[in-house]
Amino acid sequence: MRVGLFGGTFDPIHIGHLIAAEEARERAGLDRVIFVPCGIPPHKRPKRVSAGPVRLEMTRLAVRGNPGFEVSEFEVSRDEASFTVETVRHFKSELGGRAELFLIVGADSLLEMHAWKNPAELLSETRPIVVSRPGFDLGKVEARLRERALVVDGVSVGVSSTDIRARVASGRSIRYLVPPSVLSYIVENKLYTSDSSA
Ligand code: ATP
Ligand code: MG
Repeated sequence: MRVGLFGGTFDPIHIGHLIAAEEARERAGLDRVIFVPCGIPPHKRPKRVSAGPVRLEMTRLAVRGNPGFEVSEFEVSRDEASFTVETVRHFKSELGGRAELFLIVGADSLLEMHAWKNPAELLSETRPIVVSRPGFDLGKVEARLRERALVVDGVSVGVSSTDIRARVASGRSIRYLVPPSVLSYIVENKLYTSDSSA
């Protein structure tokens, strides 16, 4: 079984994430993509990052209906921030030896991968699938990473969660940037309006 782990803040999840995951799923022949919203300890949580359960719920709403997508609460349900290597170990033991693990990362995240904890273990236990993202040059990625990575540079959209939050805060539309279910959730829970800190 080929499994892609896709970590992120997902605050909120948007079509850039979904398109990237679907491209990665198809191009790498993945049986499953597991979205893993990251945990941020409450005492360290900057005001502008939504609480774990909120990001988890939006992610669940967004993947609903795609049988190849699922969501894990592994990182969100821990009290501390997780290192990717810990998450990889968790899934290794949960899925057992039969699973081949891939790490789906946007081009911007890959550029930061040298700063991740235990990059050597990450690279021996998983293969990165790098999805292109407008504005980030994969040519700058270390050769060691580039050699092992599978690059998916099909459709790419310049949507970011930061931009979506800013749009909501200034009353602009985010229709089509997030799935309709996520849009409703954001409106109903008044997320990202300048005074909210959900
Ligand atoms: P923020 O602006 O808050 O950082 P973001 O849009 O970058 O949000 P993250 O949750 O930080 O979203 O990203 C999770 C993962 O998805 C990262 O690996 C990131 O590179 C990737 N990603 C995010 N947006 C895109 C996009 N538009 N195209 C390709 N990959 C993306
Ligand atoms: Mg980001």
